[in-house]
Amino acid sequence: MTSHPNIRPEKLKIIIVGAGISGLMTAIQLERAGMDYVVFEKSKECLPLGSALSLASSCCYIFDQLGMLEDLRKVSLPCQKIDYVRDDLSKVGVMDAGNVEDRYGYNAILITRPTFYDVLLTRVPAHKIHWGKRILGFEQNQYGVMVRIADNTTHHADILIGADGAYSAVRQTLYKSMLKKGLKVPKSDMAPLHFNSNCMIGVTNVLSEEEYPVLKEKTGDFHVIIGKERSIQVYLFTFAENRIGWQICGKMENPEDHDEQNFRFSDWSPVAADELCDQVRHYKCPFGGTLGDLMDRTPKERLSKVMLEDKYFHTWWHLRTVLIGDACHKHLPFGGQGANQAILDSVHLVNQLYAIPTNSLEDVAKTFKSYYANRSTNARDVYKSTALLSSMLSNRGFGSDTVRSLALSKTPKWLNELGMDGMNSDRPFLCFLPPPNATPSIKGKPQAVPVHYKEMLKAQGLKGGSSIFSSTSS
Ligand SMILES: Cc1cc2nc3c(=O)[nH]c(=O)nc-3n(C[C@H](O)[C@H](O)[C@H](O)COP(=O)(O)OP(=O)(O)OC[C@H]3O[C@@H](n4cnc5c(N)ncnc54)[C@H](O)[C@@H]3O)c2cc1C
Repeated sequence: MTSHPNIRPEKLKIIIVGAGISGLMTAIQLERAGMDYVVFEKSKECLPLGSALSLASSCCYIFDQLGMLEDLRKVSLPCQKIDYVRDDLSKVGVMDAGNVEDRYGYNAILITRPTFYDVLLTRVPAHKIHWGKRILGFEQNQYGVMVRIADNTTHHADILIGADGAYSAVRQTLYKSMLKKGLKVPKSDMAPLHFNSNCMIGVTNVLSEEEYPVLKEKTGDFHVIIGKERSIQVYLFTFAENRIGWQICGKMENPEDHDEQNFRFSDWSPVAADELCDQVRHYKCPFGGTLGDLMDRTPKERLSKVMLEDKYFHTWWHLRTVLIGDACHKHLPFGGQGANQAILDSVHLVNQLYAIPTNSLEDVAKTFKSYYANRSTNARDVYKSTALLSSMLSNRGFGSDTVRSLALSKTPKWLNELGMDGMNSDRPFLCFLPPPNATPSIKGKPQAVPVHYKEMLKAQGLKGGSSIFSSTSS
């Protein structure tokens, strides 16, 4: 184990708003760091609806370090390929990530969202998560933060982490308070999120391998059917527990009718199947039968409708409050990046928090500034490439079909690998735990050294600081 001084303040109090993927991942890491935190979640119980999550190689570094990787492998499948076909099942092309384990250290994994939550929740002591606690707002000054909860209680802390998703109450309160003080918030940050697609997702009952032989293959590669006439894509996934996940994404005819003001639907609540399903029921399924057969094998409680929106926010922190996950960058699901980016945020933030020497406003500001500097560029680049992929998949017409086919079947291997290398370059892990076991052939970005470690080492006349991370990848 790498030895290094622990300079974190024992008494730093942290409130996390939201027990979603970013909130729970932050809680697990703070727990391992022995830091003082509490999570407030508005839902009365865990409702992890939804379909598949593909977790990238870059996130497996932290899973390995936290001892979660083996548990996750038992309930997931490795994935490396996406097969694209038209709605008559003619081939468009393949996106093959190649030997991901060799190149980046670990295979990417495909898992159902409820299963992933189950694994996360076993790692956070139950008394640290307070369910049914909706944050209404907060106030902060140089001495601390006070959050107000809908049950009329108030809670105090040194640091507030907004992990409360795309419609983050923390973000909205933060921006309003900044404007009130005459501080600048970019116009684009204040603009509402706009929807451009809606999406129906479902996970079938356990299916027999005789009926669906694809389930015997035990890989989580996924299949995408691209609608010819309409701007519709259907994603199909096979899960370790012999279920099939499906996701229908359709571009909305009049997205301007549905903005944040008149349609707030960020929750994963189950609703009845709607017209989107009817439009594709008759499509042939690459695994046999039709998509309607899969829908008929999907119980209502494993069916949900979500509106898809995307936005990158430029303001991630102010005073003692910081944002992570969908609260500061909401990605479209086509690149499967939202959860991955949320997890990477959490690792960068916890590394910085662990090294904070005092709870003074000056130290908190340095910490958040460094978190933003190390994390935001990669998050923004991934946001942009996801938006590009989304247009490539949803544009219609002969020209778009040709561009798509060329991009997915004729892109040289080296170019694919270059793109993958970029997506997998940020592989953060915690500075206070033994490094992960990966031996990747492609080096990642050097690990970001927490700002306060740098300062401490400088004060001691020591150079650099990367020695606190000893890994083959850095
Ligand atoms: C159809 C679809 C498919 C996807 N597929 C993938 C994929 O394959 N791979 C991938 O990486 N990502 C995927 N994503 C994205 C991914 O699910 C999200 O990016 C990820 O869940 C973001 O995590 P988060 O913790 O930031 O936010 P959330 O998961 O939204 O969690 C926020 C939490 O905060 C709580 N909350 C909200 N407001 C308050 C309040 N006022 N007080 C207290 N609590 C509050 C919410 O109840 C929720 O529990 C997909 C998304 C969609 C819609």
